[in-house]
Amino acid sequence: MEDEEGPEYGKPDFVLLDQLTMEEFMKNLQLRFEKGRIYTYIGEVLVSVNPYQELPLYGPEAIAKYQGRELYERPPHLYAVANAAYKAMKRRSRDTCIVISGESGAGKTEASKHIMQYIAAVTNPSQRAEVERVKDVLLKSTCVLEAFGNARTNRNHNSSRFGKYMDINFDFKGDPVGGHIHSYLLEKSRVLKQHVGERNFHAFYQLLRGSEDQELQELHLERNPAVYNFTRQGAGLNMGVHNALGSDEKSHQGVMEAMKIIGFSPEEVESIHRILAAILHLGNIEFVETEENGPQKGGLEVADEALVGYVAKLTATPSDLVLRTLLARTVASGGREVIEKSHTVAEASYARDACAKAMYQRLFEWVVNKINSIMEPRDRDPRRDGKDTVIGVLDIYGFEVFPVNSFEQFCINYCNEKLQQLFIQLILKQEQEEYEREGITWQSIEYFNNATIVELVEQPRRGILAVLDEACSTAGPITDRIFLQTLDTHHRHHPHYSSRQLCPTDKTMEFVPPKVPGSIDTGQNFMFRPISYVFSMDPTLRAMWPDGQQDITEVTKRPLTAGTLFKNSMIALVENLASKEPFYVRCIKPNEDKVPGRLDEAHCRHQVEYLGLLENVRVRRAGFASRQPYPRFLLRYKMTCEYTWPNHLLGSDREAVSALLEQHGLQGDVAFGHSKLFIRSPRTLVTLEQSRAHL
Ligand code: ATP
Ligand code: MG
Repeated sequence: MEDEEGPEYGKPDFVLLDQLTMEEFMKNLQLRFEKGRIYTYIGEVLVSVNPYQELPLYGPEAIAKYQGRELYERPPHLYAVANAAYKAMKRRSRDTCIVISGESGAGKTEASKHIMQYIAAVTNPSQRAEVERVKDVLLKSTCVLEAFGNARTNRNHNSSRFGKYMDINFDFKGDPVGGHIHSYLLEKSRVLKQHVGERNFHAFYQLLRGSEDQELQELHLERNPAVYNFTRQGAGLNMGVHNALGSDEKSHQGVMEAMKIIGFSPEEVESIHRILAAILHLGNIEFVETEENGPQKGGLEVADEALVGYVAKLTATPSDLVLRTLLARTVASGGREVIEKSHTVAEASYARDACAKAMYQRLFEWVVNKINSIMEPRDRDPRRDGKDTVIGVLDIYGFEVFPVNSFEQFCINYCNEKLQQLFIQLILKQEQEEYEREGITWQSIEYFNNATIVELVEQPRRGILAVLDEACSTAGPITDRIFLQTLDTHHRHHPHYSSRQLCPTDKTMEFVPPKVPGSIDTGQNFMFRPISYVFSMDPTLRAMWPDGQQDITEVTKRPLTAGTLFKNSMIALVENLASKEPFYVRCIKPNEDKVPGRLDEAHCRHQVEYLGLLENVRVRRAGFASRQPYPRFLLRYKMTCEYTWPNHLLGSDREAVSALLEQHGLQGDVAFGHSKLFIRSPRTLVTLEQSRAHL
């Protein structure tokens, strides 16, 4: 590693620690953090601590410093990881991915933005127009997605409330020619409810605070978010949003500009605003039982008819249809016969909320799809049978623990366990297996394998998701109690199962079963579907319901539950990541209070523990920085040795490699596997690279 920095800055790679203990690890982390060194390696894994302040680490000059370099040549940085992933992709035509993990507020999304900026800065030197367009869309899409998918939470003022995996496609020149975003499980319950101190998705406040007076009038909106049920819950209204764009007004402008650059038409942007407004109005609709019919007959009215009128107008839907969706449901009563059944007040409120959530989710998905359609690679690379090489960037929501975990939190935590398992498999298990396969002497390392936690969730029939599905599919009201009892029966002795019933306050265990979610979330209560919107005359809104009006008897068939859908999407994600060459960024949140420059030892130690960083260093230290098949090694370095240039006359490639290393005096730092050379320290590689360059 190039020593641009003296020892007073600590070790730039945890692998270089003199003694590997938690104390030493934390000391190094702390020392570096105090000196503004927020990045440290573990081999090729980057550990990053959120500084909670602007540091002069980014921008064109810094990018130039890392461009084209090897990972170990410069101080640790996100740019170095982005560069390594990019080079692996370009040199070896390998699909790569960068997996960013860490708890909420640890800096994952900021990291993903720096990575994108690096890639945008180092590509397309010839300024091809199409590539420039793709880069613009890639960069601007973040801002739009954050408006619709991020919110202020108590942990993070700009918290991602959805998971994001973005593929960037590259042509044979290594320039981005397209991209695709997968979004995972938007926390749509936030549309209705927010914890104290938290907010709804940014988009609502941006619309209210950033629109012109006349625009608001047309949407029948008042500027004050406190007027609307959906935006006043958390009472976090006047607290500004701390992100790069600053206030809601400014963010609104930024998002409008970004949508324009990406290619949203003015009509589409207007539709988006109308839908947001309609959701806000929906949230204010209340229901009353009508006197003339009496509650027995189930007569029901909307307290303020004007609101229904606004919703109807804004969604270009006949108002009697909106009213009917809210006040009654159609059900199949045997065969193909359909009857209309009036709602109770509770049911109508439920239908209203379901409608609002569904509209927002469809809006979000539509925005993602729109961006995808614009980023779709146009000219596929003929040399790869029309397949581009890809760098994937995963920025998934961070691990969260609350006194009562909702279904969505449960999914978020399950997702984190799943990714941790992948990390273990790729970094720890594969590494050990390879040493064994290659006959390298090796002391096996103990690590915590969280497979048992993932199994607790995924197992067929007995797993938490399976039991939840079962609980949701039984006729009648779902009871939390039955769900918990079943789980307790199956898992009470499981070391990582923490029963909400048996020890409700114990939060130390990894998996607290979620509360049984509202049935709409699990797909059970099909009759609350907001069917009226497929009749909307608004083309954008219609496009959000491409499935159209389904036959009611079709709809009655039990759809896959949200839990199962999420599980399937996670399994697909992990398979996808496993097929790529992975790079890891492990983000750490220094303190709970978002204070610049303060690192709370206990708080960080906990994260270092559950991220398995110490084990990571241990495996790395006992192991080797690099491994290369003998022929590939020779191809790259044979010119640096008289015995191997131009061709070696020695028995095998392995012997040739041995001769080469001996000439350089490097034989002490390597081990010879059956088919590969294992190199212990990065320094050796740098020496070889240098002697190659000096020829
Ligand atoms: P969540 O899981 O809630 O989405 P996250 O890990 O994505 O959390 P970020 O939104 O990236 O967290 O970071 C939280 C905040 O921390 C940012 O809004 C920013 O204020 C600050 N921050 C993060 N990384 C950096 C950085 N490298 N430099 C300066 N500030 C940073
Ligand atoms: Mg985030």
